Amino acid sequence: MIFPFQGGVHPEGHKDATRQKPIEPLPPPARVVLPVSMHIGAPCEPVVKVGQHVLLGEKIAVSASPVSAPIHASVSGTVAAVEVCPHPNGGRMLSVVLENDGADAPHPDIRPFGSAETLTAEELIAVVREAGLVGLGGAAFPTHTKIASGLGKVDTLIVNGAECEPYITSDHRVMLETPEEILGGVRALMKIYGLESAVIAVETNKPDAVETLRRTLPRRGDGVRVAPLATRYPQGAEKQLIRAVTGREVPPGALPAAVGAAVFNVDTVASIHRAVTTGMPLLRRVVTVSGSAVSNPKNLSVRIGTPLRAVFEATGGFREQPFKIIMGGPMMGVAQHNLDAPVVKGTNALLAFSRGEGKPEKEPVCIRCGRCVSACPMRLLPVYLYHYEQKNMLAECERMRVSDCIECGSCSYICPGRLHLVHSFRTAKQKLREARKRGGN
Ligand code: SF4
Ligand code: SF4
Repeated sequence: MIFPFQGGVHPEGHKDATRQKPIEPLPPPARVVLPVSMHIGAPCEPVVKVGQHVLLGEKIAVSASPVSAPIHASVSGTVAAVEVCPHPNGGRMLSVVLENDGADAPHPDIRPFGSAETLTAEELIAVVREAGLVGLGGAAFPTHTKIASGLGKVDTLIVNGAECEPYITSDHRVMLETPEEILGGVRALMKIYGLESAVIAVETNKPDAVETLRRTLPRRGDGVRVAPLATRYPQGAEKQLIRAVTGREVPPGALPAAVGAAVFNVDTVASIHRAVTTGMPLLRRVVTVSGSAVSNPKNLSVRIGTPLRAVFEATGGFREQPFKIIMGGPMMGVAQHNLDAPVVKGTNALLAFSRGEGKPEKEPVCIRCGRCVSACPMRLLPVYLYHYEQKNMLAECERMRVSDCIECGSCSYICPGRLHLVHSFRTAKQKLREARKRGGN
């Protein structure tokens, strides 16, 4: 049964350029740059010094905070610097720079832990925490924290294979190429939560992934089903996905566990299996490199810390000078202005567009058509939120639930007036956070 959610849009998929492209390993670069924060939550503190030799998978930065994820060396080599470097969030951040020795010599502590069958739930959570796993769909929330927040409350495990953003096919390829690893990770999560069943949700524009997963299922036992979902953006957003699979509504401001659900991205789930069976922490991730300015779009398995420039060069460089570069999808991604910034744990795509694909550069103007209201899957009133943010009326923004905005970009996409709606809501949220820190609002 599929329960529809209100709102959403139907952007052109643009997935043909990479959906048939198998994941290629990108050779590790001469230097990797590892920011101390690649996750939501507390940044880590470096635990290595300049000149120190580190081994593949060795911890180089940690935090005692429960909402954080350790950072590991994605190559073996020498610590060349611990300094502030460009970060793909647009700012700069303390980072550990490693000079690759080319040996890929693994740390001796890295060894298989066993399997979901042989470990206890507590041991599995500890493996996930030590592996530095975060949500690989782009959100980068620490996975062990998410697991812990749902313990004793979750009756429905949903694995998110929707991948509803245009251009991105990295999860699609993971489903086609490593279905056994996904199922291994599902079994680990089922054991942790004490569940007898789980759902892998995949949009119907990926019938081969649905077929591959279903074909793999009987060999791994019952209890797991594959649910095809209508192709509509933002079907892969957590709250919309829970609605589509269970019919349950997550209340405003609440977490999925409030309605008994837990949602994990497919590649995160596969990474749980890999961490358990190999002991290797999160050192690489699959990145779709696409867009009209990219010579040869690909899906690449990239070491975390690889400069964006090196990733684009691996696809033959730019066909023409890009007008816009985005990390993530065109709806929710973050514009990039410095190709020295590195691939981080949450990087699922790098897109480069020619000038013709940018929005028309005209004065934005609201024509009061109300299309943004119909498109909003969170039942907000984007046109009013925009108006209040522009006038700096933050109390009104809060009253109209700007904090519930999932920044999906559906309103901006549909707006004929070309208003920068999502940008405005991100700004409002930022201003509200700052006001709260000062004790106001
Ligand atoms: S979609 Fe754009 S133009 Fe239409 S009401 Fe909303 S903000 Fe105004
Ligand atoms: S207001 Fe927020 S949640 Fe609603 S459509 Fe716009 S970006 Fe998405």
